Amino acid sequence: MNLDNLLKVKTGFSSFRPGQKEIIQDVLSKKDVIALLPTGGGKSLCYQLPGYALDGSVVIVSPLLSLMEDQVQQLRSSGEKSVVALNSFLTFSEKEKLLTVDLNSFKYIFISPEMLQVDKWVMKLQSIQIDLFVVDEAHCVSQWGHDFRTDYLKLGAVKQLLGEPPTLALTATATKAVIQDIQLYLCLSAPLFHINSLDRPNIAMKVEEVTNNQEKKERLLDLATALKPPGIIYFSSRTKTEELYEYLSENGIIKVAYYHAGLSQEQRILIQQQFLMDQIDIICCTSAFGMGINKSNVRYVIHYHQPTQIESYVQEIGRAGRGGNQSIAILLKSKEDAKLPEFMIENELPDPAWASFIIRNLVNHYGEIEYLSKKQMRDWMEQQPENESHLRYLLFQLNEYMESHGKLTSSSLEQCTEAIQRKIDSRTSMKRSKLEELNHWTTTANCRRKELLLYFDEELLTTVEHCCDNCGVNIDRYTRKIHVTSNTTEELVTWEKVLKNIFWQEDEN
Ligand code: ADP
Ligand code: MG
Repeated sequence: MNLDNLLKVKTGFSSFRPGQKEIIQDVLSKKDVIALLPTGGGKSLCYQLPGYALDGSVVIVSPLLSLMEDQVQQLRSSGEKSVVALNSFLTFSEKEKLLTVDLNSFKYIFISPEMLQVDKWVMKLQSIQIDLFVVDEAHCVSQWGHDFRTDYLKLGAVKQLLGEPPTLALTATATKAVIQDIQLYLCLSAPLFHINSLDRPNIAMKVEEVTNNQEKKERLLDLATALKPPGIIYFSSRTKTEELYEYLSENGIIKVAYYHAGLSQEQRILIQQQFLMDQIDIICCTSAFGMGINKSNVRYVIHYHQPTQIESYVQEIGRAGRGGNQSIAILLKSKEDAKLPEFMIENELPDPAWASFIIRNLVNHYGEIEYLSKKQMRDWMEQQPENESHLRYLLFQLNEYMESHGKLTSSSLEQCTEAIQRKIDSRTSMKRSKLEELNHWTTTANCRRKELLLYFDEELLTTVEHCCDNCGVNIDRYTRKIHVTSNTTEELVTWEKVLKNIFWQEDEN
């Protein structure tokens, strides 16, 4: 069957979106592929469709549990039943059962990088025919692999254990350096590149300066009242999501919820589902929400706090307008919050002095790593409670160092500590320079779209009608009410439109 027919039969879609067919052809010719398609550009199809044409299974490495659940559900609702997600959401007995069944019976197997470090799952996967190995949201290799998700850096080794299946890396946000990291850590010796435009012309961009945080709060309320939902509002801390959720609720905003990593897994899946099903209109969240989530009708994304790099910003605003509707991304800036991103960067990796203390404690008299008892772990966590990921980071770095230098002596322990501290410093300063680039973008007087794309080495070749505040953007287009002004080309108001707006439903602008 040719690909166009396969597309129609399996998905009901009449044609491929830009880039999809070429990527799928290369995947089916068993080449390694690194593919960039914009947010909402249809990356999932690039492994789903090959799945139907290949005999064996497709293993998809996915960064988040919520994302896996979303993708499993989508596949199931499209009629594909041979799907499974191997993650911590499975109960003990489900896991035990899966270990006894033949995984070959699953066409699509979703798994996290961490589960791929567990011997029994790797052995299980070794027993089946894997025809395609996919790393979805592959920028995570570079963005998280060096910090708190170090198992991303071990995917190349895992692939070897699985017999080097052809590999497809998918992302919507990769600079040249990130692409290099993906190639290196996934051990792709001669991959084919499909670099498509990352632009999202249906998302207008706006940066608003406010004088202080009180004004920011009030502006947020104005926007949440006026803008046509659904919307996502990003904050840099869990407490702020809750605080502003309360403020909005108390001020008449209904169908609003908050979401952050401190909620239980069940609560998170529930809120995500409610948002997907339009039972919740506005979600106040940290960056823990939204990656890869396929909700087509989000109309705005507000950043109450800015992220620390352009990649994250593009990922987060990309959750708007996935169905093609006009939507808007608004970043609120206040001088009072200027230090926050810097603070976030400093917290992402261990403090060098703490690192030195921990390293000394981790290495025993024989120069080997002493794995921690639960009590030791708890004691250390109590000293700096958020630091489980820091501890994992240090263990990873220590292991790496010992792999190349052997067991440690008292003097090499010093050198090892210094080497790790240098790594922390250089990673932190790299992040600071990424923050500088985002800060520069927020203050530019040039076209924001042009500058954003330039960051990814892409040139803006078209004129976008509703582009950015620097090119001119009318926020009224995105409000619940219809505004018809004589000097715009806005469509005529029809009674259907009026009714749709009264009931806050979609219109196709
Ligand atoms: P992303 O690139 O962000 O991963 P998804 O794979 O989640 O995007 O796809 C976004 C949406 O586009 C989904 O609803 C998907 O069904 C739809 N889609 C993908 N390919 C096509 C196509 N060729 N024609 C129509 N819709 C498509
Ligand atoms: Mg996706």
